[in-house]
Amino acid sequence: MKRIRDLFNHHERTYSFELFPPKTDKGFENLLKTIALLCELKPDYISCTYGAGGGNREKTFDVVQHIEARHHVIGMAHLTCVLNTKNDIAAIVEDIKSRGIRNILALRGDPPKDQPDWQPTEDNFKYSSELVAFTREKFGDYFGIAVAGFPEGHVLCPDRDKDAEFLKLKIDAGADFVITQLFFDNKDYFAYIERLRTIGVKVRVIPGILPITDYRALQRFCAVCGATVTDEVKKIFEPLQDDQGATLQAGTEFAIRQCQELLGGGAPGIHFYCLNKVHPTAEILEAVR
Ligand SMILES: Cc1cc2nc3c(=O)[nH]c(=O)nc-3n(C[C@H](O)[C@H](O)[C@H](O)COP(=O)(O)OP(=O)(O)OC[C@H]3O[C@@H](n4cnc5c(N)ncnc54)[C@H](O)[C@@H]3O)c2cc1C
Repeated sequence: MKRIRDLFNHHERTYSFELFPPKTDKGFENLLKTIALLCELKPDYISCTYGAGGGNREKTFDVVQHIEARHHVIGMAHLTCVLNTKNDIAAIVEDIKSRGIRNILALRGDPPKDQPDWQPTEDNFKYSSELVAFTREKFGDYFGIAVAGFPEGHVLCPDRDKDAEFLKLKIDAGADFVITQLFFDNKDYFAYIERLRTIGVKVRVIPGILPITDYRALQRFCAVCGATVTDEVKKIFEPLQDDQGATLQAGTEFAIRQCQELLGGGAPGIHFYCLNKVHPTAEILEAVR
């Protein structure tokens, strides 16, 4: 399979989905059905997340391998370096390569809930930029490498200029492109692009979009990842929070508007956090592509 960066030579925009590996066998079976439906939408690639510390990593790689082998759609494995030693990571990246996977989203990750005070030593990578540099050094150009970007600044680095400089370190280390954390105010994305271009980051920065389907879950998730639940989102979704159908409808309309404005403003595609569901991402994609 190709590296995602090779698509950029002839695709002005890419549309992609993000999945997570289910915990149970039943969940895994269901995900395979969802993947078949998602692949009918002809995404440019599909990525699969990686559990904190990598406890469930076989599942991540199995999902990516399945997408590529069964559906001939490019897959991307997320990989975090937290908890693992550099030697562990070398073996894990070898495993990814031996499965024929050519795309990695290189992340630091966060210490898991049962080890909140974990600190890296010199045997670990401290930041994702070190993981990127290591992978490039050891595996050359074999992998396409994406990294995470934070239009509102990372939750531990609210200074947006500083956070942009840290993003630049990942690109200078060899990353090909960026997928952003979810956000609901497009001004944050466009200002981020401006900041990055000013400091010489030229790669694609693909907005990560979460269709809103459950307002309470959204609030919990944003509290953890640091994305702002904007006044506009509160105004639309708070009154609907006990009405699942109305939330879904409003969430679809909101995401379509958000994506259309992003694409109109020059965003090089959309990465959908589809939460292992086909709907409403299918409708949103159809409306914006
Ligand atoms: C698109 C996307 C996909 C994700 N997928 C997953 C997943 O699959 N599994 C998972 O567990 N998590 C995932 N995450 C969450 C991510 O792991 C967390 O946000 C994590 O806290 C930061 O990871 P990072 O790769 O951005 O870290 P880094 O780039 O290492 O940054 C971590 C922090 O350190 C700061 N920093 C970076 N470099 C330096 C430096 N040189 N000096 C000082 N400070 C520095 C940054 O500003 C930031 O505050 C994802 C996030 C996004 C946006």
